[in-house]
Amino acid sequence: MQILDGKSCASAYKDRISAEVSAAILTGKRKPHLAAVLVGSDGASETYVASKVKTCKEIGFESTLIRFPETVTQEELIEMVDRLNADSSLDGILVQLPLPKHIDADQVTLRIDPTKDVDGFHPGSLGRMMLGLPGFVPATPKGIMMLLAHNKIDTTGMHAVVIGRSNIVGTPMSVLLSRNQNPGNCTVTLCHSKTPDLKSFTLQADIVIAALGKPEFLKADMVKTGAIVIDVGITRVEDLTSPKGYKILGDADFEPLAEKCSWITPVPGGVGAMTIAALMQNTLEAWKRNTHA
Ligand code: NAP
Repeated sequence: MQILDGKSCASAYKDRISAEVSAAILTGKRKPHLAAVLVGSDGASETYVASKVKTCKEIGFESTLIRFPETVTQEELIEMVDRLNADSSLDGILVQLPLPKHIDADQVTLRIDPTKDVDGFHPGSLGRMMLGLPGFVPATPKGIMMLLAHNKIDTTGMHAVVIGRSNIVGTPMSVLLSRNQNPGNCTVTLCHSKTPDLKSFTLQADIVIAALGKPEFLKADMVKTGAIVIDVGITRVEDLTSPKGYKILGDADFEPLAEKCSWITPVPGGVGAMTIAALMQNTLEAWKRNTHA
């Protein structure tokens, strides 16, 4: 078994981005600039946004964090998105999900200027991805593709089983893996909560992408020997022995699976790290277009 180390791979991407930005700044260009909108004080969302802001600083990007209380109205949020859209000093805008129940997240996402949609959630971005046109690919699936490419894993001809069909992870992942490219060129099965006998599918998989949000759901007896396991899940589980009071678990039962797999991503230090690297890569691409770098 080999660990698909998202942390070191993300580090390599971030070093490359940082070097490119430093060189451009020496020629008088402004820094790439990402705006993050955070609503409420959900612990996980706070952590994700904090690490995006921290990464921006590390790699020489500017970032602006806009916070709203849980009680923000849809109109106020959309007004802010409009202001950020109009701000020519910004390259990327992200609104951290999930949003409170009284807000229609689709309406907020739709409002983001597609040229600043570095999360890749806008229908325009997803449509471009479907058609194989250049554009912003959602950060988590993009990060997984970057991780496979970095480790020179040739997925051509593999059977990929994706568990979970969300618009931000499972569905775009299934599209990217089925495309005529490498990584890609897989035969893809997309499973979800209504899939009967899921194990009969995962047992056929050369590569399993677990993106369902159920801690340690994927067990060793559900995959064949030598399979590749990509664990997208991030769930906080109470752990009174930890100073934080919780631990983070993925969707894969790591230790027993690791003995059976050819490659496996750890949690933390796997897909999460790559998601942030992919977001930075998307922001870099937006900035390059804006500054003609
Ligand atoms: P989501 O929107 O809740 O979607 C979960 C998907 O899993 C749904 O399609 C659901 O099926 C399916 N599912 C649920 N239970 C299942 C079961 N028992 N068997 C088969 N399929 C099942 O979740 P998401 O936003 O895609 O996120 C999934 C996980 O990834 C979460 O833990 C999330 O925190 C994590 N995540 C991590 C990153 C990262 O950077 N590492 C980024 C995004 C998300 P139905 O459609 O039938 O309901």
